[in-house]
Amino acid sequence: MTTPAVPAVGVDLGTTFSVVARLDQQGRPSTLANAEGDRVTPSVVLFDRDVVVVGKEALKALATEAEHVAECSKRDMGYRVFRKVFEGRQYPPEVIEAWILNKLRCDAAQQIGPFTKVVVTVPAYFDEVRRKATQDAGYMAGFEVLDIINEPTAAAVAFGFQQGFLDQKGSTSEPRRILVYDLGGGTFDVTVMEIRGTQFVALATDGDVRLGGYDWDQRLVDLMAESFIRQHYVDPREDPNTAGKLWRECEDAKRTLSARSKASVACGYRGYSSRVEVSRQQFKEATQDLLDRTRFTTEQTLKAAGLDWADIERVLLVGGSTRMPMVRDMLKQLSGKQPDASVAADEAVAHGAALRAGLLLAESEGRPATFAIKNVNSHSLGVVGADPLTKRRRNGILIPRNTPLPVTAKRTFKTQKADQKSILVQIVEGESPSADDCTQIGQCSVRDLPPNLPAQSPVDVLFRYEPNGRLQVKVTLPGTNRHIKAEIVRENSLSKEHMDGWRRYICGIEPTEYR
Ligand code: ADP
Ligand code: MG
Repeated sequence: MTTPAVPAVGVDLGTTFSVVARLDQQGRPSTLANAEGDRVTPSVVLFDRDVVVVGKEALKALATEAEHVAECSKRDMGYRVFRKVFEGRQYPPEVIEAWILNKLRCDAAQQIGPFTKVVVTVPAYFDEVRRKATQDAGYMAGFEVLDIINEPTAAAVAFGFQQGFLDQKGSTSEPRRILVYDLGGGTFDVTVMEIRGTQFVALATDGDVRLGGYDWDQRLVDLMAESFIRQHYVDPREDPNTAGKLWRECEDAKRTLSARSKASVACGYRGYSSRVEVSRQQFKEATQDLLDRTRFTTEQTLKAAGLDWADIERVLLVGGSTRMPMVRDMLKQLSGKQPDASVAADEAVAHGAALRAGLLLAESEGRPATFAIKNVNSHSLGVVGADPLTKRRRNGILIPRNTPLPVTAKRTFKTQKADQKSILVQIVEGESPSADDCTQIGQCSVRDLPPNLPAQSPVDVLFRYEPNGRLQVKVTLPGTNRHIKAEIVRENSLSKEHMDGWRRYICGIEPTEYR
């Protein structure tokens, strides 16, 4: 394999940790260490007046100046602003993510030279709005995002590479079905995949964008704080810095509990101090409901794929939180198989992204693809209509979840009055019949309808999910081949002008074409 002129780089933008990988001369993925020499970078940003610090130092600052630290910003993607305010300023979550990506870009460039093209990963369960926000973060960080791919798919590709499935020899093998269980710091994803030779086909996917190791940490924090209160009658969680320090201690203790049966956490507040011991069993009991949620979702996903455990050859563990023995025990009991921890839990996703970047670069240079990815949509797409009886906003599902991508669905609307100029269609993602309980993507605005259309003229709106889960709209008038302007007007999205401003501010890189 010849090396492409442009490095193939993949970025795993995690809730708690991020990783960058690239393909080496032989086309093998390898992790790039950051400027501090670490293979993973905490996804934490410190806004220290005019200076922005990303990574380990920012994480440390949680114990001393928590009010300036943005952590888990990926959890807030899709919202207009991040949950915390910094010195009176509110930041969109994708801007905070852009700071993280910018550090990853600069650190990687020190080793491989300047580059812009990357593939960034997203949880399979990310909805369309969050996918766009991730691409926007990449743009603001000075990247050209070649594609976004689902984290479990990336992990499966890395696994396939490691198993030799991508070689000529491996590609003739029997189809294998694997279940990817990805429990990271802030998100949970489960995907059932079929590997057919060099094709990676997702059959069903589900998850929770607000469930991860962070929630396990919080339970430990609560356990410790309650014990502290019983001893000293004060709550260490009420002070942000003490709470930040306690969280870091608890996260550490959680890791210890993956290796040992006991850990202890020290806490000091208002002149009192104590060291509390916690056993693996206590920790498991305090977090049982969280684990149960992942079990329930795992079983649902298998069902959605129309399979049972006998059909699954392997259960692939991805994400740092799968190191917890309770996760492995639960999956073993559920599947009757020893879960497979052969891919590096924290690095596999970035490796898969680098392989995908290599594939896209090869294709752009006219070289043949070595593997293919097929995905499904993780949320149903719906058009909002009014219920004739209750007048409530109803979600009329157009494309049900778990439909193979790409997919196009057509809905015909009728103009209400003569010479109507525009149509507005509200679009949502979600499973609930009530549109208000779904993710509001925005409005599809159809403008410049031709003049003098009679009332009740049909207008076809085509909704297309791209293979990466992004949505496009196209509008036609039946019987004509007129091009009609249509765009999605988003509720919580930055304008190009704003993004350009942030791009200049964050990385000093001039704006480019971007849609
Ligand atoms: P993300 O991609 O969501 O940032 P990662 O896959 O990097 O997440 O996993 C990070 C999570 O894994 C954190 O919550 C961290 O505490 C947890 N983790 C890492 N190592 C261990 C361990 N040995 N035992 C338990 N949890 C761990
Ligand atoms: Mg991850």
